[in-house]
Amino acid sequence: MQFTDLKAQYAALKPSIDARIQRVLDHGQYILGPEVAELETALAAFTGSRHCITVASGTEALLIALMALDIAPGDEVITTPFTFAATAETIVLAGAKPVFVDVEADTANIDVRRVAAKITPRTRAIMPVGLYGQVADMAEINAIAAQHGLAVIEDAAQSFGALYEGRRSCALSTFGATSFFPSKPLGCYGDGGALFTDDDRLAQAAREIRIHGQSARYTHTRLGVGGRLDTLQAAILLGKLERFGWELQQRAAIAARYAGQLYGIEQIAIRPGRDSVYAQFTVLVDGRDAVQAALKAAGVPTAVHYPKPLNVQPAYARHCCPECCPVSTRLAARVLSLPMSADLSLADQDRVVQALRTALG
Ligand SMILES: *Cc1c(COP(=O)(O)O)cnc(C)c1O
Repeated sequence: MQFTDLKAQYAALKPSIDARIQRVLDHGQYILGPEVAELETALAAFTGSRHCITVASGTEALLIALMALDIAPGDEVITTPFTFAATAETIVLAGAKPVFVDVEADTANIDVRRVAAKITPRTRAIMPVGLYGQVADMAEINAIAAQHGLAVIEDAAQSFGALYEGRRSCALSTFGATSFFPSKPLGCYGDGGALFTDDDRLAQAAREIRIHGQSARYTHTRLGVGGRLDTLQAAILLGKLERFGWELQQRAAIAARYAGQLYGIEQIAIRPGRDSVYAQFTVLVDGRDAVQAALKAAGVPTAVHYPKPLNVQPAYARHCCPECCPVSTRLAARVLSLPMSADLSLADQDRVVQALRTALG
């Protein structure tokens, strides 16, 4: 059993993906070729955003969003420590200070009730994360941001495709940033990402930043990065988009089945008016490491997202005291993600449930 079954997905899409790759090899426009523009149009339409700017990775998407907003040394960006390192890493790379706000115990997303207290005259943006595939409290976050004149960058690396009050993740705030890392809900066959915004000026800035700050060839108007998505990855993503809607339905069906069969075992809560794309299906268990070892022995692969909140990681500890986010610390000790992909068979789902029940006694 695979934790994320990319082989079965490729087998289903092979004719289309192979043909699309071959077309790129034939036309040879490896950088910003026609597939990149086609993908950006498709993704903007899918999310309901005015602009989509594809980039080299999810990390690059976050960094370019911060750069487009001119976030710089002396600035503060409010985020959560219970996330992948890239969230806070890009804030530090932009020269700003990540200000960590603890998460909710049941969704593991940023606890919006704690945000206002962390706003200072230096705060420039809020960067909520849609952890495990469910969007955070965006309406409340946008309201706080509007009140204080802040930007909101949604780290949607795990939530691409998720719905929030009928609207798609990535189209809910100043910027939405996602990742196409192979194991994400929409993944390519290497690194990739995208930025979304409705703001024409910010979109133009992001387009320039992803190509070394060029406003015209060899005219470097601003500081940029080498941050383009390559044409081959765009072609692969166009192939993957063909059954993405079906995959989201499958993931939801598998999650519903897991949720029912794991009744009585604590699970990440899904708020009304939202869904999750289940980048991860995560349960909360005591004695997590022993449970994970027992599942491994039973042939069930699992993962921990994440074993340590960022506020206790050496690279970020100076931005927060070790005790400042107790909910994150407790979650980090208890979370366990189960195998999840659209192609996960019923038999494998049952094996996961059986193995987990046995491990928990
Ligand atoms: C994966 C991920 C990223 C980074 O994406 P990459 O494409 O790997 O650079 C950022 N934030 C979160 C929450 C992620 O899960």
